[in-house]
Amino acid sequence: MEQDVAGRLVVIGAGQAAFALAAKLRALKDERPITLIGSEDVAPYQRPPLSKKYLLGEMSFERLTFRTDDWYGEHGVELKLATSSRKSTARRRPSACRTLDARL
Ligand SMILES: Cc1cc2nc3c(=O)[nH]c(=O)nc-3n(C[C@H](O)[C@H](O)[C@H](O)COP(=O)(O)OP(=O)(O)OC[C@H]3O[C@@H](n4cnc5c(N)ncnc54)[C@H](O)[C@@H]3O)c2cc1C
Repeated sequence: MEQDVAGRLVVIGAGQAAFALAAKLRALKDERPITLIGSEDVAPYQRPPLSKKYLLGEMSFERLTFRTDDWYGEHGVELKLATSSRKSTARRRPSACRTLDARL
């Protein structure tokens, strides 16, 4: 399945870099719709504490996330989690995006 995503910024990978891009664009008042496609089933989170405070049980997973789930909806940033994107599709036809499980 392929969906036309013209006018929407689609970012493959919902990690720290993707979150930073979305947050920066919103801080700059860029209002175009954004979709972050991430293969993991959780919103973007910090990885460095995973091998430090989180591993030691000194930090909850909720504190690893950059923003609450509400922030994404309130800022027009759609999260497509547990979804893998085929990167090659975007290169062939920039206005279309295809995911392996056909959810976008
Ligand atoms: C345990 C640990 C400790 C670390 N400690 C430090 C530290 O102390 N200092 C430091 O500077 N850095 C540290 N790092 C590295 C730092 O976390 C990374 O540099 C940073 O997370 C990179 O962010 P990113 O968004 O580029 O990539 P990532 O955080 O890797 O995020 C990319 C995301 O995209 C997803 N993805 C990839 N391809 C697709 C696809 N085709 N479709 C859908 N989703 C996709 C991945 O599943 C992942 O969720 C650590 C990393 C780990 C794992």
